[in-house]
Amino acid sequence: MSYNNDFDTAIEGLCETFRFLSQTGCSGFDCSKESLNIMGSWGHKQTRLPETLEAIRMDLGECRRCRLSESRKNIVFGAGDPHARLVFVGEGPGYDEDQKGEPFIGAAGRLLTKIIEAIKYTRDQVYICNIIKCRPPGNRNPLPNEIKACLPFLKRQLAAIKPDVICALGTFAAQALLDTTTPISKLKGRFHDYNGIRVLPTYHPAYLLRNPGKKRDVWEDMKKLMKALAN
Ligand code: SF4
Repeated sequence: MSYNNDFDTAIEGLCETFRFLSQTGCSGFDCSKESLNIMGSWGHKQTRLPETLEAIRMDLGECRRCRLSESRKNIVFGAGDPHARLVFVGEGPGYDEDQKGEPFIGAAGRLLTKIIEAIKYTRDQVYICNIIKCRPPGNRNPLPNEIKACLPFLKRQLAAIKPDVICALGTFAAQALLDTTTPISKLKGRFHDYNGIRVLPTYHPAYLLRNPGKKRDVWEDMKKLMKALAN
């Protein structure tokens, strides 16, 4: 038996004892219904309400969990519909995003907006965020320890939003979400699983700006995305 089950059983036993004492007229303990309800809620079998994005943002606070906090101007938490069916996860904030605290608002962001509109959505109807929430100096790649420090917050955001589909933009988003080192070229274009949510990796819009010939590949992926969301 697991520790959690042991704990639940112990709490239930305690409640039973207090109920019995209450029925026998014992007054030496607080056997009120209210107290029994409170004790019952200590067990792990209670239904836990999902977190809200606001609560996660508050918990993040003025985060100093990794060294990116030393050079950032703003934390870029994420933006969009908190109940979106589709979430885009990118790599990390760039200069423009760091300045304003909003995700994907620079050149790559404008291209992402076009992609979103091409699949008949608006930015307000999806949720957009990144693997890390602070800009790496000079837009360098995020380091493993930085991803490790920040990823739990993204995971909580995804648990709160509960999207039908996640589109992972680029190597870092795809590899971090899928916990793999497989290159994006091999991951892209097909659905993977992240905690029961379908994940479709594709190229990052910044990569598309440098390699416009790859836009056709991304469009093929977006067609798969639309099909998945239509079901
Ligand atoms: S990147 Fe994430 S973990 Fe690091 S300081 Fe920013 S919010 Fe905190």
